[in-house]
Amino acid sequence: MNITAILEEIYTEIEPYLTERRVADYIPMLGRVDSNQFGMAVCTNDGDEYVIGSAQKNFSIQSVSKVFTFAMAYELLGQSLWKRVGKEPSGTKFNSLILLEQEKGIPRNPFINAGALVIADILMEHYKDPYKEVLKYIHELSGNPNIVINEEMKKSELDYANINYALTYFMKSFSNINSHVPEVVDFYSAHCSIEMSCVDLARAFRLFSQAGKNPWTGEKMLTKSQTKHINAIMMTSGLYNSVGDFAYRVGLPAKSGVGGAIVGVLPGEMSIAVWSPGLDANGNSFAGIKALELFTNKTELSIY
Ligand code: GLU
Repeated sequence: MNITAILEEIYTEIEPYLTERRVADYIPMLGRVDSNQFGMAVCTNDGDEYVIGSAQKNFSIQSVSKVFTFAMAYELLGQSLWKRVGKEPSGTKFNSLILLEQEKGIPRNPFINAGALVIADILMEHYKDPYKEVLKYIHELSGNPNIVINEEMKKSELDYANINYALTYFMKSFSNINSHVPEVVDFYSAHCSIEMSCVDLARAFRLFSQAGKNPWTGEKMLTKSQTKHINAIMMTSGLYNSVGDFAYRVGLPAKSGVGGAIVGVLPGEMSIAVWSPGLDANGNSFAGIKALELFTNKTELSIY
């Protein structure tokens, strides 16, 4: 299969979709990004890499960071993690409070904000310096030691984090948060403000396409079952309120973020990262979904 040629075709076909679309502007600094940028990177399990467009350009990974923090917490706690967070799609907005009251402070899954805030709390309980540990984990997986938290983005995010504070205080009232709420929201906002490129993300996500093995050393970091579980939760909860449409059109487990990234895996084969900041009504990258749909149609690869 000629992946280089396929990426070139995708780039040409995607251009009409790179218009002035709305970017996430509820965080002022994210609102300043040009919507019509596009990059894509593919890393196969054999070690081949393919890139197109702005694949090396750094952007705010936002909710894609939740896959890394979830994997770290799952590695630490194993099955007991599920006492504090569920594994069902929420069918509600990413920062919704509604279900939390009915479900007594246990978030539906680790990828909605409430779930990721619980995961942040877990990492804070286990590590003296969780900020350093998350970066260390991402450096190790991506092979890029220069990845950092954008402090200005984090500040911008914290200035508009009232709902995240509300979610965390609410869960604390059900004893599902142990650390101080402002500290949990600070750490959560920090990992959302990490900047990476498509190449970094595709390299790092080989952890999930290679059954839990460190992409560089081959060392086992997650069991095969844990990797299956993480991929399954990406499949059922990784694309906000359009997981059904994404499964239908793309057919890969993936996680998106409001910065415009979507990172998916074809277990046993490859990882694919795409970035384009213009979003659709569900908060997913508009051109990103289209590019992944073209990729799985042209390659005839999907998990289904
Ligand atoms: N930083 C974001 C927030 O909690 C996460 C957004 C996302 O879903 O990518 O508001």
